[in-house]
This record gives sequence, C-alpha cells and structure tokens, in this order.
Amino acid sequence: ALIITDDCINCDVCEPECPNEAISLGPEIYVIDPARCTECVGHFDEPQCVQVCPVACIPVNPAHVETREQLMAKYVRLQGGT
Ligand code: SF4
Ligand code: SF4
Repeated sequence: ALIITDDCINCDVCEPECPNEAISLGPEIYVIDPARCTECVGHFDEPQCVQVCPVACIPVNPAHVETREQLMAKYVRLQGGT
C-alpha cells in the first residue's frame, strides 16, 4: 500500500482517481486505507494517485510493503466484496 505524507496540500485530485476508494479526507490531510490500496494492481499499470499528485507526496507505506502477488490477492478480495 502507499501512504500520503504530511506534504499533502489537500488539493483533492487523487481521491476521485482511486479505483479502490482507498483515499479519503482524514482529520488534517488525505489518507490511504492500506486494506484497500492495491497500488492500483489489477486496475492500472501505475498508481493513479501518484500520477496526479502535484507535490509527489505518496510513497510506499513502510509498514505495508507488499509483493505484486499480495497486491493482486488484495485486488481479488476487494472485487469479491469481502
Ligand atoms: Fe488508490 Fe491506486 Fe493510489 Fe492505492 S495506489 S491509493 S489503489 S489510486
Ligand atoms: Fe494530497 Fe497529493 Fe492527494 Fe493532492 S493529490 S490531496 S496533495 S495526496
């Protein structure tokens, strides 16, 4: 999963781009739910939020480093609605 750092300027452009509805507005800045972020695996070749973020504040979450296989498994789980 990816994570939004406190460099976020709350520009709102990433939230509607997420195919997994993993991004929401938190108490101060936008946040990514690691349980829903597949790094766009299953949907796109590149993370869509990273593509649109004007300040490049969305790195890999060091607490949620995942393989492509794990991300694909998460994608399948999310598609199943569980
Ligand atoms: Fe959503 Fe993709 Fe960004 Fe993860 S990488 S938060 S799935 S847009
Ligand atoms: Fe924050 Fe970047 Fe998302 Fe804008 S696109 S809300 S700066 S994380």
